[in-house]
Amino acid sequence: MTDVDLVVAGAGGGLAGALRAAQLGARVLVVEANENYLRGNNTSMSTAMIPGAGSRWQRAAGIDDSPEKFLGDIAAKTHGDFAKPVAEALAGVSAELVEWLDDHAGLPIELPTDFHYPGHCVQRVHSIPGRHGSGLLRYLADAVTQQSGIDMLVPGRVTATRRDGNGLLVTVSYPDGGTEEISTGSVLLATNGYGANRELVAEHLPEIAEADYHGSEYSTGDALRIGADFGAAISYLDAYQGHAALSAEARTLVTWTVVMHGGFVIGMDGRRFGDETTGYSEYAAVLAAQPGASGWLVYDERIHQASKAFGDYVDVMESGALRRGESAEELAATIGVPADALAAELAEASAVAGDERQRDRFGRNRFEQPLTTPLYAVRIVPALFHTQGGLTVDGHARVLDTETRPIPGLYASGGSAVGISGHGAAGYLAGNGLLPALGLAYLAATHCAAHLQKGDQ
Ligand SMILES: Cc1cc2nc3c(=O)[nH]c(=O)nc-3n(C[C@H](O)[C@H](O)[C@H](O)COP(=O)(O)OP(=O)(O)OC[C@H]3O[C@@H](n4cnc5c(N)ncnc54)[C@H](O)[C@@H]3O)c2cc1C
Repeated sequence: MTDVDLVVAGAGGGLAGALRAAQLGARVLVVEANENYLRGNNTSMSTAMIPGAGSRWQRAAGIDDSPEKFLGDIAAKTHGDFAKPVAEALAGVSAELVEWLDDHAGLPIELPTDFHYPGHCVQRVHSIPGRHGSGLLRYLADAVTQQSGIDMLVPGRVTATRRDGNGLLVTVSYPDGGTEEISTGSVLLATNGYGANRELVAEHLPEIAEADYHGSEYSTGDALRIGADFGAAISYLDAYQGHAALSAEARTLVTWTVVMHGGFVIGMDGRRFGDETTGYSEYAAVLAAQPGASGWLVYDERIHQASKAFGDYVDVMESGALRRGESAEELAATIGVPADALAAELAEASAVAGDERQRDRFGRNRFEQPLTTPLYAVRIVPALFHTQGGLTVDGHARVLDTETRPIPGLYASGGSAVGISGHGAAGYLAGNGLLPALGLAYLAATHCAAHLQKGDQ
């Protein structure tokens, strides 16, 4: 008899796995390294955007969606090069997941329809009021507290795992230097990726290695090390989510909704340098390549008001990082760019705004409406948010070895596992960080509990 049925290493998206497994009757232990995880991990830092293809909220809004459509969007964004079994499983479970989060984890899920996320052919990105991951994680943590069958060990770091008869033996290290071994049937590695490991980032992600890292300091690649001890395969290690709109002053996300409503990005010379609507992830490397590796996000009062639905934007606003000008000349003078350059960009954007058949010189055709005075600007820098590649898993989140055989009892989710964004930064679709974090944890728990019921663990 093992101490527990499932050890979940990491209390970010992993909490969804803990909750699901316990609801299905498993004895679960969550081991979390960071005592401030509720405000410190990536799930808590996110904008709480979770795709669900075919959900009841979409049906209520008259949106026709399906896993196949979602898969089509993933294939288009990654140019067909992505972890297909994982994407199929996640697209297939995505609607069930957001409904379960609402019904069984207490999240007040809603479907924002106030703007369009780049790359999603329909509105399928669900969220919660406030649109912030700290709220999402708080709901999950509260549900875990109320669920019988789950213990939490915080702070404790899973530093090793090895086979022990039919089960696994997990080594937990404590801040005082002590260690403990816990026997378990299965382990879910939900420790995120390697974004905080500068050596690995320089090796695998050189194009973004100099940018700010804006994710959990505990994302040091522990799952890669633990998986290696089992001969696990790894894939798409060069995949990452970047973001082009971190406020240089507030060090908080401005959110790309500003662009999707019609804002644009200029360099220090007052000129634009690309089509911002391709996606915020790949635009991070584009911004990183500009002189000074920074720019200004320019928008107007209408967009300013619409963006207040995002807690992060409100934080940026309250930090004093926004600049405002009653005219284009005044804004240009305030932010120190040539007034004629800014005026030329406003004129070009106005000329194509509101008519998606027209394109600007970069091919952008989405500007919603011409920008009108008063105008706003916020200084932005590129950032690395998290890595997307990792341990190769199947559609049940089982870690596979180099010959694609499942390693008994070992699961991975979120940044620990291979994602569904292909290579580099350009394959990332909004929500495809949290979906593997919550969705693979959910699938792992479901699979683990089903095997418990069959008594084969
Ligand atoms: C600012 C920001 C905004 C984002 N917005 C979105 C969004 O709206 N939608 C979206 O899909 N994605 C978004 N992402 C990405 C998303 O947050 C991540 O993809 C996702 O949260 C990763 O979840 P995770 O469970 O893998 O990692 P985390 O949430 O970071 O959880 C991992 C946990 O493991 C702990 N840990 C690490 N090592 C160990 C160990 N050895 N033992 C025990 N515990 C350990 C860590 O302390 C941490 O608590 C955003 C990311 C950032 C930074």
